[in-house]
Amino acid sequence: MKILHVAAEVFPLVKTGGLGDVVAALPPVLAERGLDARLLLPGLPAIRDGVRAQKKIAEFGPAFGAASIVIRHGRMPETGVQAYVIDAPWLYARDGNPYVGPDGQPWPDNLQRFALLGWVAAHLAFGEFDPFWTPDILHAHDWHAALSLAWLASHPAHPVRSVYTIHNLAYSGDFGLDAHAELGLPRRLFTHEGLEFHGRGSFMKAGLVFADRITTVSPRYAQEICTPEFGCGYEGVIGARRNALTGILNGVDYKLWDPTTDRYSDKLFSARSLDGKAACKAAVRASLGLDAAPDAPLAVIVSRLTDQKGMDLVLAALAQLLGRGMQLAVLGEGDPAIQEAFVVAGRLNPGRVAVHVGYDEALAHRLIAGGDLILVPSRFEPCGLTQLYGLRYGTLPLVRRVGGLADTVADASHENLQADAATGFVFDEASADALGAAIGRAADAWADRDLWRSLMQRAMARDYSWGTAAKKYLSLYRGLMAQ
Ligand code: ADP
Repeated sequence: MKILHVAAEVFPLVKTGGLGDVVAALPPVLAERGLDARLLLPGLPAIRDGVRAQKKIAEFGPAFGAASIVIRHGRMPETGVQAYVIDAPWLYARDGNPYVGPDGQPWPDNLQRFALLGWVAAHLAFGEFDPFWTPDILHAHDWHAALSLAWLASHPAHPVRSVYTIHNLAYSGDFGLDAHAELGLPRRLFTHEGLEFHGRGSFMKAGLVFADRITTVSPRYAQEICTPEFGCGYEGVIGARRNALTGILNGVDYKLWDPTTDRYSDKLFSARSLDGKAACKAAVRASLGLDAAPDAPLAVIVSRLTDQKGMDLVLAALAQLLGRGMQLAVLGEGDPAIQEAFVVAGRLNPGRVAVHVGYDEALAHRLIAGGDLILVPSRFEPCGLTQLYGLRYGTLPLVRRVGGLADTVADASHENLQADAATGFVFDEASADALGAAIGRAADAWADRDLWRSLMQRAMARDYSWGTAAKKYLSLYRGLMAQ
């Protein structure tokens, strides 16, 4: 079976969040199971420079505002996964974030940038660019790739099947409906049954309406997005496609995220031999200027600093966290007001709160290795990866009961402790008080060292490797091909 994964980012070349991790990890695990899984990527600078052994396979233009567009074929570094790169410097040769400009606003030509990605995906699937390879299934990830499914729908005679994975429904990509002429899509697709969403066009809706199958990155999020609370206005559209919708939990790439082999970790450790973890904690504290308080638990955050991630709740519960003798180390960037509030909190609490603004892969690993507790109090969470990393490193996740967090962390409740199932701390209400109460329970558990150690060891034994997810994608693809 031949699968084309279409996405705007891929680790280690371009990553703004979990999407990049998933797009990097899934094709190689599918390949291990005998599939021919390839990538199609926009030629953002790091992708254009980082994909190896590129050969030009096609050139065309002008299109979508770019005078000339070259399609190259090469291989991903490390995994060797085959990748097609769209080289269109006018649209993609920009430093910084792939989706937003330096002002934090979407790039003004995102319509053209991601329409091109979708257009090339569909036409690659129609056999127009690579005479030696066409996919059986086009698998589009998030809104950036979703318009490919509208082009597939406009050519119904083609046998290509499609899957659309929602990594985050809150980012949907919208545009003026008058763009249909520029996109070259039939006008009939721009109705309420098609791309139209509240008087605008929506990339997300193209995926939701036209894909043969829709997946989300956790079973719980698949249910949640059918409700007004989590559906971002799309709950009706999604509800109508419920039979096509499945939740498949993301995996973790344990080649990158494992305390016994981590290339960034200050010291390696395992569930059997935890001494290294104490060394990791000491090293993180020393490098971030936190006090070497022997009894204080270290809570860490590696996150986009946004409302979605509940970062405002952390700020509001900070006094409770510090009041229970904890320290806090934060790595992240995002909403300028939240970012600034964390920086101020760091300044006001020297030795107890350390804040590093920015994106730093090595520090992310070091914090997750050195922390005792990782805070993920999200308002909504399609899957979440950092709590899964936390489990593997015995850095107990403290999470809100939503989406993938609810699917992967078992609260240290009386029943779960009795059943030998507890792996972290889970709370319900999106409020500082509820978060503070959970922090209080974590502090109580910390005081009981045997209990804490048993929670760590159970957490570290949890297996969220990609094998389980790969099996589910495989059976989804097989089901589609059998139709
Ligand atoms: P989302 O994709 O919604 O941001 P996920 O938990 O699914 O959240 O994935 C976030 C990914 O990005 C994880 O791999 C996490 O380690 C990484 N990450 C988030 N913020 C940073 C940062 N400031 N520096 C390094 N890595 C980060």
